[in-house]
Amino acid sequence: MVTSQTANLPDTPESRRYNRIKRWLGIFDFVLGLALLVVLVATGWTGTLRDVAYTVGRQNYVFSLFLYLVMLTLLGKILGFGLDVYSFRLEHRYHLSNQNFRSWLWDEFKGWLVGIVIGGIVVELIYYTIRNSPQHWWFIAWAVFICLFVFFAQIAPVVLFPLFYKFKPLENEDLKSRLVRLSERAGTRVRGVYEWKLSEKSKKANAALTGLGQTRRIILADTLLENYSPEEIEAVLAHELGHHVHRHILKSIVVQAAITFVGFWAANAVLRYAVDDRHMFDSLGDFANLPLLALVSTVLSFLLMPALNAYSRSKEREADRYCFESIPDVEPFITSMNKLADQNLAERSPSRVLEWFFHSHPAISKRVAAAEQWARVKEQPSPATH
Ligand SMILES: [Zn+2]
Repeated sequence: MVTSQTANLPDTPESRRYNRIKRWLGIFDFVLGLALLVVLVATGWTGTLRDVAYTVGRQNYVFSLFLYLVMLTLLGKILGFGLDVYSFRLEHRYHLSNQNFRSWLWDEFKGWLVGIVIGGIVVELIYYTIRNSPQHWWFIAWAVFICLFVFFAQIAPVVLFPLFYKFKPLENEDLKSRLVRLSERAGTRVRGVYEWKLSEKSKKANAALTGLGQTRRIILADTLLENYSPEEIEAVLAHELGHHVHRHILKSIVVQAAITFVGFWAANAVLRYAVDDRHMFDSLGDFANLPLLALVSTVLSFLLMPALNAYSRSKEREADRYCFESIPDVEPFITSMNKLADQNLAERSPSRVLEWFFHSHPAISKRVAAAEQWARVKEQPSPATH
């Protein structure tokens, strides 16, 4: 049985306010980052920063480039720190966080460090190819970037995520056997299901399919495992399994590859214009032009955000449909959606424009409505199909 009024649960003023503030924080953060890059390039201060890096780095190119990156990211971090603190306090104000300030600060520091390591590798490789193959650098750098992307997607669940959260294999026998049944029906095998100790930091619940190949696994937040019925967790598992069966991680990597191909090509065009026509930098290999590269990538991601989110939403709908087909009854899916919305203070029915631009998942009201529609069709098989 499916109750029909669940799809129309209204959003509370509290959830609307929380999501509005979060959206604005995201917008301010984006504008601030963009402004920093524009100012650095427009004023030529990026050249000053490069000179400082060379002095401290004793004229060693590789080391100086790394120092430049450290200073650039530090500058960005300091500039955006007020907004970060505000975001931290916002989660507490809406009773969504279990994390104290010290632990949060430590996470911020670790996040910056991880960014420096990964960003350092990427940036060093980019400028190495620029200096050694100025004609074809963008194509080579793109190919290397994709390899790195796949590598990091693979190690993320075993190396990166554990830096911030604890994980352990799921021990609940009932859930494990439910997953095995689901997987057998799908003719596939997920390599593992892990309990994600999200409760140490957040009151929110979440689940995801992560990793590639040997590291591919479903992670389920303990905040979900503790508060949801076995049938509801099964529905969440079935949704994640839908991502697995439809090879969504692989597909998103292919999409990323296509986008970054355009990105590197555009970066090359912009850099050449800045160096050859505008004489803003001595050469392509002058790493003071790094903010310009970052600008190209930032603007491109901004422009593509609606398209990427639309793509993501279509994959989520596909995973939902897979879930409806795999579980005996869609009611636990509907109740789990409503529980998630309450627990995470999510907006069930954001405006169409907001959903179009910002949301990687379809509105919860739509996901619930799709489940109800699916159940109705299932209950009354169309005579035309015979
Ligand atoms: Zn999903």
